[in-house]
Amino acid sequence: MQIKRLRLSGFKSFVDPADLRIEPGLTGIVGPNGCGKSNLLEALRWAMGENSPRSMRGSGMEDVIFAGTAARPQRDFAEVSILTDEVAGEAEGEVEVVRRIERGAGSAYRINGRDVRAKDVSLLFADAATGAHSPALVSQGRISAVISAKPVERRAMLEEAAGIAGLHVRRKDAEQR
Ligand code: ATP
Ligand code: MG
Repeated sequence: MQIKRLRLSGFKSFVDPADLRIEPGLTGIVGPNGCGKSNLLEALRWAMGENSPRSMRGSGMEDVIFAGTAARPQRDFAEVSILTDEVAGEAEGEVEVVRRIERGAGSAYRINGRDVRAKDVSLLFADAATGAHSPALVSQGRISAVISAKPVERRAMLEEAAGIAGLHVRRKDAEQR
């Protein structure tokens, strides 16, 4: 799976709609401290279903919504869209995954315009061997976390990398029925 475009609106410091085209090959994002580089990685992870406010450097899920500055009022919603190339099992070719959060109303997800459950989004990415907890997303401070991880935690990371994490989700689901 290749991510072709990341689109943000009202997400953290990205108050105005921003479009990032990601071309094949290596992409670097550079900028001064506090300009929003880490926010971009968090947007990616959030749209893939991240639900831990702490890993988004917040105390509640609504902290991802633009909180306002001296010059601009806060926003009522945040939306992040990920456009990928074709995904196995999805007929339409390109796949657009959108997550939106509104103050007081929680999160909603869409895949190619269809309302879906959070679980559908996490399965889509898990089957493509990626997702909010993919070891490919290395945030600031993560290297030391990998080094000090317990063997069981490290196994979970390896399973994500091997692309079998989606199978565990399905097995758990089947066991509960
Ligand atoms: P560094 O180089 O220090 O790692 P960075 O480019 O990774 O910096 P980020 O951490 O992505 O920067 O961005 C931090 C900025 O985002 C801060 O200025 C912070 O005020 C702003 N920010 C975070 N959450 C919100 C929010 N909900 N509303 C408005 N601004 C926010
Ligand atoms: Mg940073």
